[in-house]
Amino acid sequence: MNKAELLKHAVPFYEEDELLELEHAIDLASKAHKGQKRKSGEPYIIHPLAVASTLIEWGMDIDTVLAGVLHDTVEDTEVTLDELENTFGKDVSFLVDGVTKVSQARAGMQDLAEYLPQTKDNLSKLLIAIGQDVRVIIIKLADRLHNLQTLQHMPREKQTKIARESLEVFGPMADRLGMGRVRMQIEELAFSYLDPTEFKKLQNQLRKRLGRSTRKLGAVRDEVEKALKAQHIPHEINGRVKSIYSLYRKLKKGDRTIDDIYDLMALRVIVETKEDCYRVLGILHTLYQPMIARIKDYIAVPKPNGYQSLHTTVITPAKQIVEFQIRTYEMHEFAERGLAASFHYHEQKASKDYTRSKKSAVLPTHMQWITQLQEIATKLRSGEEIPESQLSIDIFGDRIFVYSPKGDIYNLPEGAYPLDFAYLVHSDIGKHAYGFRVNGAIHPFDKPLQNGDVVEVITRKTSLPRSTWLELVSTTHARAKLRAQLRKVGAIESISHAAAIVREKTRRKRAPSEETPKA
Ligand code: MN
Repeated sequence: MNKAELLKHAVPFYEEDELLELEHAIDLASKAHKGQKRKSGEPYIIHPLAVASTLIEWGMDIDTVLAGVLHDTVEDTEVTLDELENTFGKDVSFLVDGVTKVSQARAGMQDLAEYLPQTKDNLSKLLIAIGQDVRVIIIKLADRLHNLQTLQHMPREKQTKIARESLEVFGPMADRLGMGRVRMQIEELAFSYLDPTEFKKLQNQLRKRLGRSTRKLGAVRDEVEKALKAQHIPHEINGRVKSIYSLYRKLKKGDRTIDDIYDLMALRVIVETKEDCYRVLGILHTLYQPMIARIKDYIAVPKPNGYQSLHTTVITPAKQIVEFQIRTYEMHEFAERGLAASFHYHEQKASKDYTRSKKSAVLPTHMQWITQLQEIATKLRSGEEIPESQLSIDIFGDRIFVYSPKGDIYNLPEGAYPLDFAYLVHSDIGKHAYGFRVNGAIHPFDKPLQNGDVVEVITRKTSLPRSTWLELVSTTHARAKLRAQLRKVGAIESISHAAAIVREKTRRKRAPSEETPKA
């Protein structure tokens, strides 16, 4: 990748003035990295240009692409943040600063569970960086991807270290952002370096098995195609092959061999509307016998990272087991590109000042955990202590989806209580919570919510928070709001107490005229 190639790549997606900025950034980075070499012996500049090119492919805004070009300048060259801010603006210098901080934090993040106490400070930096702007992590993922693609030039020891860290930190991070394709790319590359023998073995097994089933699948595919045409459902069918790393993980999970895994190759049906997804499911179940336990409706109940699709596994008359994944084009785009896709969509919808505005305000609902991270980051910056368990739970823990009676989706960590939900909806709803109805039935304060619950908060204006509630919340967000309210209620009480004394004194002097303060 060189300057001309990158510019050519960018031309269809950005405005004239943005392209000029890009050219300027390339020139500045080229000059700054002059004389530096990659391990492969190539000039260093090919790396930031490759990163920027990936960010363009992911549909990121121009500031992110500029930061991609400049991402290693502050750490590795004479260029300063002030210089970047003066030339490209605050957003770009902020992103580069974030990427630099994450790089520094990265060093101690190999084995998160084991090193957590020692890496607290590094993890905090990472959180602060993500919390402020999730684009930092997207740049970091593009950076990591290129480093993995060029890992063959590194010494063996470094390869293992980078590969392990990629599987433990960057893969899950991409998954959490819903970036399925990037996650797979990272995992496949990293796994091939971490355990080359196992990787090759599984690759061969998979190839053999696929050779047999692909031919048989062709017939199923033709049959489905015909049925969908007859029903006039516009569609596209593709085969998707399971990744080697996910196969490895599935095999490791239980006592299974490759023959017990049904979704080595799945057929993916992409249609135009949500309604068509369900129609396709009906048609498949008319054609073939479904395996009831394997029908998954991730459209009605998306995965915590926002993934949506219908999954079903059927048995054909030839006794072949075939998995189908049914989704709309939009769901497909999201499954592949995740958060990056929503940046793209938002950009199309909103005007240019979207990129200048605060990201959290427009994040899709299933990305609310990012907002929660921002709150943690704010606390860390103000010097407040956050328990380590909280830090790890909030990024890497499992999450559930619950719904308001109106159908709005809320994302909470697993184990969250009804009050956590109430405070997430609105701090006033939490404040006046009197009871809960979950899926229509009365639900106690101390019983955690489950994925897919419909939660209704019953409020009363006269009902106020109690200090015992601190035991009944599990999220940082709810705890912080509740604490503030408890302090305030305490304060109101002491003020009204003082007011009562003053009033009492006044009353002794004059006639009582004011209303009695509420107890
Ligand atoms: Mn880099």
